[in-house]
Amino acid sequence: MRGTTLAKILRYRIFWLLVTVCSTLMLLTFITFWGLINTWQAYSRPAFENMLGVDAEIQEDFKLIRELNKEFPGQSLCNEEMLNAMRLAELSARRLHEFSYVQGDKLLCTTTMGFVSEPVFQPPDPVKSDLSDVEFVLSAPVLALGGQVEGMQVKIDRFQAFIRPLAVEATRMPWLETGVYTLTEKGIQSVLKPLNVQPMAPFQKNGPHWRITDDRWVEQFCYGAGSCGLVAVHIPTYLSYRKGAVIAVLFFTTLIAGLVGGFSWLLHKRYMEIGRQLKRSLNYRTIDCVYQPIFRLDNGHLEGCEVLCRWRDEHNQQIRPDIFIKEIEKNRQTRLLTEIVIKKAVNELIAVGLFGRIRVAVNTFPDDIASGHVDQILTGVLAGRSSQSVTVEITEHEAESVDEVVNSIKQLRSKSIRLAIDDFGTGYSNFQHLEKLNVDYLKIDQSFVRGMETNALRSRLVKNITEMARTLGLETVAEGVELQVQLDALRAHGVSFSQGYLHAKPMPIFDFANYVKQHRVADTT
Ligand code: C2E
Ligand code: CA
Repeated sequence: MRGTTLAKILRYRIFWLLVTVCSTLMLLTFITFWGLINTWQAYSRPAFENMLGVDAEIQEDFKLIRELNKEFPGQSLCNEEMLNAMRLAELSARRLHEFSYVQGDKLLCTTTMGFVSEPVFQPPDPVKSDLSDVEFVLSAPVLALGGQVEGMQVKIDRFQAFIRPLAVEATRMPWLETGVYTLTEKGIQSVLKPLNVQPMAPFQKNGPHWRITDDRWVEQFCYGAGSCGLVAVHIPTYLSYRKGAVIAVLFFTTLIAGLVGGFSWLLHKRYMEIGRQLKRSLNYRTIDCVYQPIFRLDNGHLEGCEVLCRWRDEHNQQIRPDIFIKEIEKNRQTRLLTEIVIKKAVNELIAVGLFGRIRVAVNTFPDDIASGHVDQILTGVLAGRSSQSVTVEITEHEAESVDEVVNSIKQLRSKSIRLAIDDFGTGYSNFQHLEKLNVDYLKIDQSFVRGMETNALRSRLVKNITEMARTLGLETVAEGVELQVQLDALRAHGVSFSQGYLHAKPMPIFDFANYVKQHRVADTT
């Protein structure tokens, strides 16, 4: 029940239209989003690397301040020796400058100013890093520059220094903002240029994470002792800044998505319509027959032919038999197809004077054999003509259904119709089934013939099948023979007949009639 409902839904055009539109839109969104994220990450990753390097250098410089504290323990006043030590530290520092000494809340000397005449009171309330002995004053006046300029100051015990302004390369882009945050006793504090976005708390140390907040794409990368770098892309600014690129990406993704969507829509249309078109063709009998010659291997005479059907859809496209035959089976129109093909083939062969002169093999469906339909069709079509030149090809079927066809086969044989197991080796038939089925020929599937000249296993299998057939008194037909070496090997293995492109491709009746004229026909009586 559920299966049929699903099948009904699948047949609705609107369903497929929706599927096509939705998948096209999804693909478009995905490609655009993926492209944008990748571009942004191409900017954020170097920015993080930069921040990581800067952070490591600052941490290294903190050691210099700690050294100063160790070198002058408990000292109350600034002296030359201390100033020299501070200047030496400044020379070795990579990220810190303007070292100073503080006693309590009074600054006594700095590396640029030397001893200050009047002790300078320091801004109260520095923020203390949660994870180390470092205190920060986010914007302290730089005394050496007259106090007009402010910088970020770090303080460890009694010595302090300014952090040189950080420059993160990528921030030159107007749509890109970068920030560095640290975790302090007062919460998350911005170390470098506060952003309009806050980092995600708690800080995660395991690498980068991105998210979208309001109109920003934000990537956060936490490192070191509670420090996090943040890179934010202001999406509207980015889109207007990169208008050209965005339009190009949108254009190409729309084009690709449109092509994919259009192609799948065409494909769907074609396959959904195939069923309806086939019904019309079967009703109007516009199925054609082509004929492929079959040769005796011992004397090289033309034995007969196999009839194969051909169908062109309403766009005049030739559709492969394995595709449209599946559709016919699905629509339960196998009997009609067999009837059309047999009727057309018999009439065409009569018209060119070949019916009864050569053997003609027709393909059938196992269910139609079992139900007796093939017998009825042949009786109706032949209407009094001899059926002894006709061979009915049966494809190997499920083992359980062997009994179902046995009676029908007997019925056909009683009318001197011969039988062949088609595509032998690909289905379920075994020795016992073959004994029961009582057929005349085994058609060795082309998958065994293909490559048998180089593949010893295939060659051996063909030989085994031929030997088994001989034991059962059956003749063998090799399908899909394309090369002379294959033909020679088949002859050496004792295969009775061959069919394949080496001799000829399937052809329309008049071509076939001409072809027969140019070959010696075997005596089939
Ligand atoms: P099949 O019965 O095994 O038919 C042989 C197929 O192999 C044909 O394909 C033929 O064109 C192809 N063939 C012949 N020689 C060579 C060769 O040397 N190399 C290669 N690569 N192929 C070769 P076709 O005509 O495309 O038919 C495919 C299948 O469709 C047939 O396989 C048969 O199972 C089915 N079929 C075709 N016509 C009918 C029909 O009228 N009724 C039924 N029930 N089935 C049919
Ligand atoms: Ca066949």
